[in-house]
Amino acid sequence: MEDWKVYTHRERIAYFSMEIGLSQDIPTYSGGLGILAGDTIKSAADLKVPLIAITLCHRKGYFRQTLDEHGWQHEHPRPWQPEKYMELLPVKTLVSIEDRDVKVQAWLYRVKSPTGGVVPVLFLDTDIPGNADQDRRLTDHLYGGDLAYRLKQEIILGIGGARLLSALGFRIRKYHMNEGHASLLTLELLNRCRRHVEDSWDERTAWDTQMVADQCVFTTHTPVEAGHDRFPYDMVERILGKQVPYPLLRELAGKDELNTTLLALNLSRYVNGVAKKHGEVSKALFPGFEIHAITNGIHPFTWVSPYFVSLYDRYLPGWANEPEMLVRVDLIPDDDIWDAHMGAKAYLLQYIRETTGIELETDVLTIGFARRAATYKRGDLIFTDPERLLAIAGGRLQLVFGGKAHPQDTPGKEIIQRIIGNIRKYGDRIRAVYLPNYNMEVAYRLIPGVDLWLNNPIRPLEASGTSGMKAALNGVPNFSVLDGWWIEGHIEGVTGWSIGPKPKDVKPEADTTESDARDLYDKLEKVIMPLYYRDRAGWIQVMKNAIGKNGYYFNTHVMMRRYVTAAYLA
Ligand SMILES: *Cc1c(COP(=O)(O)O)cnc(C)c1O
Repeated sequence: MEDWKVYTHRERIAYFSMEIGLSQDIPTYSGGLGILAGDTIKSAADLKVPLIAITLCHRKGYFRQTLDEHGWQHEHPRPWQPEKYMELLPVKTLVSIEDRDVKVQAWLYRVKSPTGGVVPVLFLDTDIPGNADQDRRLTDHLYGGDLAYRLKQEIILGIGGARLLSALGFRIRKYHMNEGHASLLTLELLNRCRRHVEDSWDERTAWDTQMVADQCVFTTHTPVEAGHDRFPYDMVERILGKQVPYPLLRELAGKDELNTTLLALNLSRYVNGVAKKHGEVSKALFPGFEIHAITNGIHPFTWVSPYFVSLYDRYLPGWANEPEMLVRVDLIPDDDIWDAHMGAKAYLLQYIRETTGIELETDVLTIGFARRAATYKRGDLIFTDPERLLAIAGGRLQLVFGGKAHPQDTPGKEIIQRIIGNIRKYGDRIRAVYLPNYNMEVAYRLIPGVDLWLNNPIRPLEASGTSGMKAALNGVPNFSVLDGWWIEGHIEGVTGWSIGPKPKDVKPEADTTESDARDLYDKLEKVIMPLYYRDRAGWIQVMKNAIGKNGYYFNTHVMMRRYVTAAYLA
């Protein structure tokens, strides 16, 4: 194995993310944000972009979910051993937390591409003898604990991460903050860019915010005010101490509370949202800032089922590192597309049988819905009018659900419970299943194996969404509210179908639940089911369009090239 020091030979982009989802063996992610980070890193490795990623090791793992007979979610630790997959680096650094010195070490994981590219990923860890017991637990739980715990984790990620990179000898061209969690790194950079200026009275310090901003790139993911991390300044003073003078900090991060998004916005030369619509929403949330948009993606090879991998390999060799080639999907015969899809479907149905004992049917239109059970995603929307749904279905519809709620998200858990309640109640009239413990491995089976991918968030809260891109790349058309990436990917009846009004026809704050549900039922009944059952060639053309007009473009290879040209080299 290459010595880690070779990675210090080139100047690198440092990519900071509180969660990174690379594989199921390393359970340090909770959902879309972490998987995006993992997919970004994999594409960077494929494309040989000189990147290094930094995250926390979250030793207790993001939880394993079980569901009881009442449909209630239970959480279990999912501990893992970094030493099984990673190399402990010999250099440590220190951060100060509540006036205690806390040692920070890092585990090195190498993401290797078949192209020969490698991206090192550092998993920061404070579970070190000599650290106070409470500090040894700071890198245990992803999004666990209280606000103070969260602030301490952000100190380790941002300040500890930046210091460790220096201590290891890395030269960094840009610091890329994936969401605001890492924005305290700007305080470390401010200290490095401080100049002492003499004047007649005293020695004064000049804080060069421009010089910091020149080094920073910030990607925001949150489309609502309440979603951004905020810490009261008395807590910040107690825990973080004095990194920079508080008047300066309040200027940069907010008068009343430290808002990590504001801090990152003020200290980044390049800022972007994660879809065109989200860029606009972010500009409205933070007037006065220039906010660009780079639409998210997914890593092609990671998310294509084995059935489509062999199909693409046969007809479009080279597609995995050049997904643009999928634009020529029409040269693949219909039968081959259908056979590959039926392979993925059979694989899913087998998995469902093995894990739940439930038998679904191969030739019945199967709708999938799986993602974090956050309330805005409205997982139970399809059950708004169960009688209507059952009447439309008439035995010719199946539903597959999945998703975890954050342990502290009671309304999210109630959504899961309502879905499972409906499945119980109507189970003899519509086949449906809630798959427990949704994670990368489950997603990899579930998404390619359904016939239609459903997505019905409250607008404009789905900043981008990526599971629909995974579906498209596997020839599974989207049936989705026009929000996030789908506004850019949707051509009605060509790449898939919309639910509800066009973005420009939605008033902010309007409750569209009833009309969205009605539109969902109408389109399912009058357009989607007739096409699926009566015009198989027409359906396969939509599958091909999902691949050729969505999949070829909405991937992290395309996305990474845009980050390189717009943000990293700028
Ligand atoms: C892709 C993925 C997500 C993101 O799904 P969205 O629909 O974009 O929210 C979440 N969890 C897992 C396990 C995934 O694979």
